[in-house]
Amino acid sequence: MLESPVKFFKNLPKKRCTSCKKPMVEQADCYTNKCEKCTPVI
Ligand SMILES: [Zn+2]
Repeated sequence: MLESPVKFFKNLPKKRCTSCKKPMVEQADCYTNKCEKCTPVI
């Protein structure tokens, strides 16, 4: 059964920061598990 990619991603649980446990806003370049505040600036 084919499902649209959009529907698939909408069904995913909200991403949470692994550090502060706050729900994160989905980002295009979201390959980190931490929010902006917890991500060390390189
Ligand atoms: Zn955080």
